[in-house]
Amino acid sequence: MMSNISSFQFLARVAQFAAALNLLSPLVQAVKITDIFTVKTSAGGGSCNDYMPQVEAWFKDSLAIASVPIAVASNAVKDGFDNSIQVDMEYLATYFRIPPPDDEPANLKRAKAFMQGEMTLDKGKPWLYCGGGWAEEVEWTAEVRADREIQENSQENYNHGTKLWEIFLGYYTVYYWTRLHGQAINLEERPPFFPWWVEDMKQYIFLPADTDGNPCESGANLASTMFQTAPWSVTLCFGNDGLGRPQLLSDPKIDPITEENQLVSVRRSVSITLYHEIIHLITGSSVDFAYDFAQIVGQEPSFTTGEEITWDQNILNPESYTLFALATYLGEQHADYVFWSGQSKSKSA
Ligand SMILES: [Zn+2]
Repeated sequence: MMSNISSFQFLARVAQFAAALNLLSPLVQAVKITDIFTVKTSAGGGSCNDYMPQVEAWFKDSLAIASVPIAVASNAVKDGFDNSIQVDMEYLATYFRIPPPDDEPANLKRAKAFMQGEMTLDKGKPWLYCGGGWAEEVEWTAEVRADREIQENSQENYNHGTKLWEIFLGYYTVYYWTRLHGQAINLEERPPFFPWWVEDMKQYIFLPADTDGNPCESGANLASTMFQTAPWSVTLCFGNDGLGRPQLLSDPKIDPITEENQLVSVRRSVSITLYHEIIHLITGSSVDFAYDFAQIVGQEPSFTTGEEITWDQNILNPESYTLFALATYLGEQHADYVFWSGQSKSKSA
């Protein structure tokens, strides 16, 4: 039976109630990728203009896996252990080797907060590019541009006519010695760096010649995060094929979970590469220690160090987070299974 208030009054009360719950606040509306990144949509290299449906699909999938592990991790540190919390701790122990009842990796929370628009990065709203070509090579002997944005970490007092090499001596020294001796002389045998101008940010970056100034140059690269500018930038390489991986979490190529021992790692879609890059932004670390499950859990040596990955390295390793997030997401999607071992295991078994 209808109440004695008019439908207009009723709607007004609903609106009041919703407002009280903050339901009308923009904060609780769905976050868009453009809320958290400055997405390059103007013409020119790296423009996302032709890729916005893919960008949004990658963001949707990345947000889906980011949203699950936070609840898992928070539950895991509450007082007392029941079965579900024990399972949660197994996830953390597998992917980060965190023994119960230690705290969860704070970066999981920070990644989620960033993706939900609740946290900003110290270096400002990061740029998002779709493909390379957003930096233009310049000469070391060129005069430094007067319209350059000056960064805290570089020499600020330069006069008109100052050459690039005089300002960016650290990068130039590697270039100079490498050229002089025909090979890199420093311990890491770094290739010579060349300066590139980023018109969008009015800043320089420095890259080895073999990159061609293009983070997507290597066809195996799905994306790249760069820290040389402020704000930082993420480049998504849509032109590259993803090494046969499924494109989205909803990809029909991904078999449904119907039995035990189905692998988490083969369910790693290309789209959640964005989550991997966001973890780089959250930790501020550009290093990848391991991509494979076997390396993350220490069954095989890290491809970067040649040794078993350590706890400290796992806490910085984006793919550890990506696989953890995917495993917990799968656990939520398939209530009869847990995935903390890197494979489906029946809860009833
Ligand atoms: Zn990476």
